[in-house]
Amino acid sequence: MPVCKECGDEVDELVRVKVGGRTLKLCEDCADRAREQDEIAEQSESVVQGMMGFKGRR
Ligand SMILES: [Zn+2]
Repeated sequence: MPVCKECGDEVDELVRVKVGGRTLKLCEDCADRAREQDEIAEQSESVVQGMMGFKGRR
């Protein structure tokens, strides 16, 4: 049985999830969480970039 590297649980199947440009193999629970965190990180990054771009134009 494959083991999730995130929580250490044995699962029937590992899910591939891309986080921060890396592909991880996690159980479904951890994959969902990792996906969410990756989205949040991307969003906050674009917000920071938008703020910097806004400041740079002034
Ligand atoms: Zn897991």
